[in-house]
Amino acid sequence: MDRSKKVGFIGLGNMGLPMAKNLLASGYTVYGVDVNKNSEDKLAEIGGKIGFTNQNLVKEVDLIFTSLPSPEIAEVVYLGETGIIPNSEGNITVVDLSTISPDVNRKIAQAAEEKGVQYLGAPVSGSVLGAENATLSIMVGGKRETFDATLPHLKVLGKNIFHVGEDPGVGTVVKLINNLMVGFHNQAVAEALTIAEQSGVDHDVVYDIVNVSTGQSALFTRNYQSFISKNEYEEGAFTTSLLLKDLKLAKGYSDSLNARLPLAEKLIEHYEDAVQKGYANQDMSVSYAMIQDTIKSQLLES
Ligand code: NAD
Repeated sequence: MDRSKKVGFIGLGNMGLPMAKNLLASGYTVYGVDVNKNSEDKLAEIGGKIGFTNQNLVKEVDLIFTSLPSPEIAEVVYLGETGIIPNSEGNITVVDLSTISPDVNRKIAQAAEEKGVQYLGAPVSGSVLGAENATLSIMVGGKRETFDATLPHLKVLGKNIFHVGEDPGVGTVVKLINNLMVGFHNQAVAEALTIAEQSGVDHDVVYDIVNVSTGQSALFTRNYQSFISKNEYEEGAFTTSLLLKDLKLAKGYSDSLNARLPLAEKLIEHYEDAVQKGYANQDMSVSYAMIQDTIKSQLLES
């Protein structure tokens, strides 16, 4: 088979699986790896190839995407004993679509360079819906020539694709800026709708008015239409724990620059509390429901 039509995909979760599906629909053969066998089975059901390890995947394909939950896991998948880079013979390209830290992007890029592997740090934005509809924004750090060579594939996954710079971590810097704002907007929606709830003003009325006023935001539309108005926070989501991870990454990066993010610290405390109270695996918009639950339990206690 023409090797240019074969791609690897490691991490077939909420984001990875729909992205792999779009690659399949564009005529690529997708070789998927996930520690969760159910996720691999889902890829096989839509025509992907499974049953590989990182070690034999690097021999099978010239291009591998990863979409993994955390910097720690990305380090293991890229740099661990059974990872992509130590087991590759060079001459492959690896594109990390996960949100990790700029420092981990740079560390992986350094190891990749020593092995003759091309690496891009390419986090994405646009939610699961963006992954399904191939409308993601993709912010890429890494060598321009690697970016140019990979662009046709990236165009299968997203709509707004940016080469931010040659630094492999710089796409992630922009992603963390974006997700810090996501954290603020997410909480703004939760607290603003709490006032509507407590004063008995119809949420739909609030939504219609704010949507054409200065409080409007993409997060209000997303959270209200897909989750809060349905009181359903489970499906295909950007989880509270992923948001907490990104806020901590943004804060950690800011600390390394000696900057200050006073309200972000409060947000981190709030989402740590949410995770502790059992909202970790629900969509981040559950922050609204968490506030309502707290109000109800306070009423019961008084
Ligand atoms: P997810 O938890 O649904 O998917 C991650 C997948 O990686 C899972 O299927 C898991 O089994 C797999 N995995 C874990 N460890 C692995 C390993 N060692 N080897 C192979 N596979 C492994 O998470 P997601 O929502 O798909 O997010 C993936 C990345 O994309 C995260 O970094 C997240 O921050 C980022 N992101 C998510 C969204 C979103 O809306 N969900 C949006 C933009 C960016």
